[in-house]
Amino acid sequence: MSNRNPATEAVKESATNTAMSAPASAGTSNFIRDIILEDLKTNKHGGRVQTRFPPEPNGYLHIGHAKAICLDFGLADEFGGRTNLRFDDTNPEKEETEYVDSIMEDVRWLGFEWDGLYYASDYFDQLYEWALHLIRAGKAYVDDLNQEQIREYRGTLTQPGKESPYRNRSVDENLDLFQRMRAGEFPDGSRTLRAKVDMASPNLNMRDPVMYRILHAEHHRTADKWCIYPMYDYAHGQSDSTERVTHSMCTLEFADHRPLYDWFIRELGIFPSQQIEFDRLSLTYTILSKRKLLQLVREQLVSGWNDPRMPTLSGIRRRGYTPEAIRNFVTAAGVSRTNGITELEMLEHFLREDLNRHAPRVMAVLRPLKVVMDNYPEGQVEEMEAVNNPEDASAGTRKVPFSRVLYIEQDDFREQPPKGYYRLSPGREVRLRYGYFVTCTRVVKDEHGEVVEVHCTYDPATRGGNAPDGRKVKATIHWVSAAHAIEADVRLYDKLFTKPNPNEVEEGQDFTANLNPNSLEVLRGCKLEPSLAGAAVGSRYQFERLGYFCVDLDSTSDKLVFNRTVALKDTWAKVAQRGKG
Ligand code: ATP
Ligand code: MG
Repeated sequence: MSNRNPATEAVKESATNTAMSAPASAGTSNFIRDIILEDLKTNKHGGRVQTRFPPEPNGYLHIGHAKAICLDFGLADEFGGRTNLRFDDTNPEKEETEYVDSIMEDVRWLGFEWDGLYYASDYFDQLYEWALHLIRAGKAYVDDLNQEQIREYRGTLTQPGKESPYRNRSVDENLDLFQRMRAGEFPDGSRTLRAKVDMASPNLNMRDPVMYRILHAEHHRTADKWCIYPMYDYAHGQSDSTERVTHSMCTLEFADHRPLYDWFIRELGIFPSQQIEFDRLSLTYTILSKRKLLQLVREQLVSGWNDPRMPTLSGIRRRGYTPEAIRNFVTAAGVSRTNGITELEMLEHFLREDLNRHAPRVMAVLRPLKVVMDNYPEGQVEEMEAVNNPEDASAGTRKVPFSRVLYIEQDDFREQPPKGYYRLSPGREVRLRYGYFVTCTRVVKDEHGEVVEVHCTYDPATRGGNAPDGRKVKATIHWVSAAHAIEADVRLYDKLFTKPNPNEVEEGQDFTANLNPNSLEVLRGCKLEPSLAGAAVGSRYQFERLGYFCVDLDSTSDKLVFNRTVALKDTWAKVAQRGKG
């Protein structure tokens, strides 16, 4: 076995752990794949598969988007197809370049690379021309009703809508007014362009949907070139069609928009992209809505979009999640046509599974208690050989210094051990991992009666952790040599919300009422084995017996800061196992 330093061997962002080779969907059967297979069989698009991932750049991507990304890119990859990244930037007031940049970073981090990079705003001229075409064809009209009136006229699920008094304007008048809307002659909200579909349709989306609104707003890409902006429904399908997207996947709430998606494409006689809806990912104890996540950021209820408690890709990346874990989770969660709620524990299960395979093991003491081995020679230091990863023999071993004064976890000592407690206590012998058997002889207390130092004797014959006379101990505890320890801050995280459904609130409250006040605990003065000195930001480890931890970007050359990514205990695996049995 080679002697390696886990600090430099840790799992870092690298080509190997953002593998592009394995699409998340590979091998899993689902109804979307079946549709694609059928289309390939009938040669519907000449054997072509073109998808797109269409985020609106109004926030950072979250774990829900990871599902869409894995489907869009994964399915195209599987069939030798192509995937575009298209920013759906039709709401100038909410969109920013910062979000565009973060979205590109997150998609790449997940392990995907787009073929074409587009913006809905690339199509503003074309969309405008198509609007003129629809007006000339008698399929669109300028309406002077305001937003509230439009809503009133639209009717309800049980009542048909009423036609606007402006619905039957002449083509010439519509053309003139629409051109003047574009020229900036009218104030915001004073007029709209609407599609002339059917005010009696049982589908509210078909009751003369608004195509354009007037908005004198600066756009992150087109600046002040436009003061009218297309609505999502008018922009999305035509953008797909322009890019000759064959399979346009989106979440179920758009199913009712599909007739409109198809209507525009049909009326314009353009490439027939096909919209396919799948279930939205929801996770217990988690909010997946950019709008609400933005609220947490704006109200400073978290430290930012990349707060390690956030379900954003930048947050969970900082926390120590791996792209593989996310892709494996998404694949296992599957796709369907019914919205459900997935347990957060399932995501954590896939995280542990991946970290268990790759994260080097180290010893760290989070709440230190000093242990002095009275019979160990002063000034002696031994190098104990420790295994870097029992799951991966190629990870090798390292040397960990052992000396007379050590730290152990406060939890691993009890002056009065309760029943079933087998760790260190007066008179009790335990094994120090990779070290010796030690027996507690006495304790030193401070003026409050708190144990501040534990004294032991060690048995020199037990080096490596076994007694020649075959006697057994019931516990093995980890330790760090006091003279060699490096100090760090460790941030422990708990769920950000206290309720499985954070949206469940009392009258007059919003979801922030369910924030967990104890979601962050900062431990200072934690003691780490010296191999961790200089560990790179983003590198991940298993702290033996404690969990998985990742070096935070707040680390400095003087002080490392670790995030607890996830604790060791895996409840979901047991639940899943029970489900099978
Ligand atoms: P949010 O409500 O968080 O703003 P959104 O649907 O408005 O989400 P978009 O930027 O429009 O966000 O989403 C881009 C793509 O990601 C869309 O195809 C959308 O359907 C998909 N998506 C968004 N949230 C989820 C989710 N929770 N599960 C699966 N796919 C999602
Ligand atoms: Mg949206």
